[in-house]
Amino acid sequence: MKLIFLGPPGAGKGTQAKILEERYGIVQISTGDMLRAELKAGTEIGLKAKAVMESGALVSDDIIIAMLGGRIEQPDCAKGFILDGFPRTVPQAQALDVMLAEKKMVLDAVIELKVDDAALVERIAGRFTCAKCGSGYHDTFHRTTVDGVCDKCGSTEFIRRADDNRDTVAARLEAYHAQTAPILPHYAAHGRLHSVDGMADMAEVTRQLIAVLDSLNPA
Ligand code: ADP
Ligand code: ADP
Ligand code: ZN
Repeated sequence: MKLIFLGPPGAGKGTQAKILEERYGIVQISTGDMLRAELKAGTEIGLKAKAVMESGALVSDDIIIAMLGGRIEQPDCAKGFILDGFPRTVPQAQALDVMLAEKKMVLDAVIELKVDDAALVERIAGRFTCAKCGSGYHDTFHRTTVDGVCDKCGSTEFIRRADDNRDTVAARLEAYHAQTAPILPHYAAHGRLHSVDGMADMAEVTRQLIAVLDSLNPA
């Protein structure tokens, strides 16, 4: 199954992609996570992307398209993938169409997670992840069972992203509305766009996503 998750920053794309990875045996491909890994490793891509990411703007299409193109060729993508955070501009969507056609891959669905801008600020400001296993949490909406201890791996170290602050949220939302939302009609025209209510609680969003995905591929 080959899917795209679209939605503004903080909509729940990463949270849901991680849950569906296991259920459907597909891999989450997050261009944001890939960029953060480049940054941590101090690569040329990381150095170029750092300031742009911290300002809340989008990294250049050339860098992103080259990075993603290499990733979907990896063997773990053969069973399918969820693109989380890509494409984010019209040129990226066009480049993806070309890449998929060359690889004879077909998208099964594009799923839009709809969340009001007002709710996103709180989602982003409260987000943190386990430093060891990457599990995602939220100060209000998804706390660890024991304070300060990861439910999944027991680690006591957590990370908050440099760009997850109230100042950059406005710039990131603006980038979403100006540059990413315009790709929705592209996928709607091909009849592959499904919208899910991302304002619901996490378990309900998962149920709605499973309903959409199971309707594509009846068991
Ligand atoms: P995205 O990948 O779209 O940027 P995340 O999946 O990282 O978003 O979610 C952003 C934050 O909101 C995380 O802290 C997550 O725990 C929390 N979150 C995700 N889905 C929901 C939801 N349905 N209701 C409330 N909080 C949520
Ligand atoms: P979120 O879902 O919370 O917006 P991401 O982890 O997807 O966060 O992205 C973090 C930052 O990385 C973005 O604000 C942007 O600077 C950069 N980025 C990630 N994916 C892309 C992309 N496809 N195109 C351009 N920039 C990207
Ligand atoms: Zn952990």
